[in-house]
Amino acid sequence: MVVILLGPPGVGKGTQAAVLAQRPGWTHLSTGDLLREARRNETELGAQAQAYMDAGQLVPDALILDLVKEKLSELPEGQHVLFDGFPRTLPQAEALGPVLERLSRQVDRVLVLEAPPEVLVKRLSGRRTCGGCGRIYNVHFDPPSEEGICDRCGTSLTHRKDDREDTVARRLEVYSAQTEPLIRYYEGSPALLVRIQGDQPMDQVEAAVKHGVEEAG
Ligand code: AMP
Repeated sequence: MVVILLGPPGVGKGTQAAVLAQRPGWTHLSTGDLLREARRNETELGAQAQAYMDAGQLVPDALILDLVKEKLSELPEGQHVLFDGFPRTLPQAEALGPVLERLSRQVDRVLVLEAPPEVLVKRLSGRRTCGGCGRIYNVHFDPPSEEGICDRCGTSLTHRKDDREDTVARRLEVYSAQTEPLIRYYEGSPALLVRIQGDQPMDQVEAAVKHGVEEAG
């Protein structure tokens, strides 16, 4: 099965994807995580993506599509895929169909997570990530016991450069202009798209996401 998690930055796609990907047989493909890893490893892709990411702009489609094709080709057969942060533009969505078709696959479900802009700004600008174990905190809603330190592994927490307030505003504009149109694109295929309120209590979002996936399988 191939599931796409669609929604603005800060709506909780990464959190939900991490929960779903704990199920056996699922792979979480986050293009944002893959690009951050490429930057940490100082690869050519990382260098090419850096300026776009720090400015809150999208990385060119060709780079993203090469990355996704490479990752899909490495997956064991029959593995379920959960895309998080991809596709993000119409050309990416249009290219994904034929890529999947060559692997005898298709998009089985598109889950759209939604939340009002003021909630997204607060979530993004308050987000802190542990560089050690990857746990995500929020200084407003879910702070660590000791400021700046991970409760779980004691590593310092980092504030992503693109989570600073001015860049957050740019990322939300980019989402409205370039990614939101994908909702209409996928709405064209009946029964593919499910909308979920992302600002409900976490367990309710999780239950809705789980239901959306199970219904498609
Ligand atoms: P994310 O962690 O998904 O919010 O992604 C962080 C940044 O990586 C984005 O602001 C973009 O600069 C870049 N990025 C991630 N996924 C894509 C994509 N599918 N297309 C273009 N740029 C992307």
